Amino acid sequence: MQHITILGATGSIGVSTLDVLARHPDKYKVHALTAHSKVEELAAQCAQFRPRRAVVGSAEAASQLASLLRAKDIRCDVSYGEAALCEVAAEADTVMAAIVGAAGLAPALAAARAGKKILLANKEALVMSGQLFMDAVHQNGAILLPIDSEHNAIFQSLPQSYARSPEGAGVAKIVLTASGGPFLSRAVETLEDVTPEQACKHPNWSMGRKISVDSATMMNKGLEVIEAHWLFGAPASQIDVVIHPQSVIHSMVSYVDGSVLAQLGNPDMRTPIAHALAFPERIESGVGQLDLTTIGTLQFEKPDFARFPCLALAFEALVAGGTSPALLNAANEVAVEAFLDRRIGFRDIDRVIARVMHENEHGAASSIEAVMAQDALARAAARTIVAGIAR
Ligand code: NDP
Ligand code: MG
Repeated sequence: MQHITILGATGSIGVSTLDVLARHPDKYKVHALTAHSKVEELAAQCAQFRPRRAVVGSAEAASQLASLLRAKDIRCDVSYGEAALCEVAAEADTVMAAIVGAAGLAPALAAARAGKKILLANKEALVMSGQLFMDAVHQNGAILLPIDSEHNAIFQSLPQSYARSPEGAGVAKIVLTASGGPFLSRAVETLEDVTPEQACKHPNWSMGRKISVDSATMMNKGLEVIEAHWLFGAPASQIDVVIHPQSVIHSMVSYVDGSVLAQLGNPDMRTPIAHALAFPERIESGVGQLDLTTIGTLQFEKPDFARFPCLALAFEALVAGGTSPALLNAANEVAVEAFLDRRIGFRDIDRVIARVMHENEHGAASSIEAVMAQDALARAAARTIVAGIAR
């Protein structure tokens, strides 16, 4: 029996994870579930999965949750805040890290330091502190399995010996596929005026609002390039992005002998979640079998950096190194939130990020404190720029 903590249980990945777990009650037991504000959803999940602990974002949310659970006669230890998130991340056998944004870094790192099996959805944690995070994984014997569909596909397309000896594997390129999001073929001049609803309407995937906007700007792919760099030890020059609107090929590895290995499937996050949960075995996920004859056509094109400047900014941050990706990530989080609140336009997102990156010095990512200081600085700078252009 594997005991699992789900960080971000009420989110899109959290709900998909619970859906897979519910199919295998003989294999998995939920140790802890966490949410930030969705107290009623978390109470319903606690009623179904009976975790020992539940964690929320504030004292008020904790007392609401405790009284909802009391009313249903459910015994569960309720707490709140970052320290409690870090505790439950360090307690179970396996941790699903599915909090969105920088808030997920501290608990994911706590899981790494406690040597847990980490299923990593929270790509922002790796983007912000890649080297420090990977060091914590290696120094503490943690196991890191990627949930992001592209990285899970790459992981599946690499030999299992890759982590021990990447040099001998003969990898020429890592090829990340990207759907191109909802605005792939919309006239570029009209992007100034798109709404949050349009940006969140992803053609293939159903996801949380922040990553949906990231997909529309292609910052998501940019963050994934940085994530791939840290997960697979590949330099920026070895990572390609190819637009593939059907999202059937989830990513590929190109080898020196001309072979290309890819992982395919219907676009449903339960596949990578089930893969990582059961690895190296396989379990049913609830996802239907892929039928290529009904899909018929798979298309590919090169990304247009003028249409998607966020992708170029992410490559720039990766090459600059140090705390530059932390600057990029923090500026993006502030800009996306402002766009979702209708304070700035869609194209202002890349303008805010570019200004934060180009008007602030980055430093060495020598400690988590240095990364968090850069994150705070970038957020303050981004908020000032947003206030200047807010409409
Ligand atoms: P959602 O917005 O759907 O869910 C986010 C979860 O994090 C919720 O449980 C939310 O709680 C919780 N949360 C939000 N803010 C905080 C905070 N400050 N402190 C603690 N918990 C918080 O996001 P997704 O599930 O879409 O994405 C989660 C992560 O997985 C992201 O990093 C994303 O990039 C990554 N990912 C997602 C994919 C997808 O298909 N959705 C695919 C690949 C990667 P509450 O709801 O209670 O407020
Ligand atoms: Mg992805």
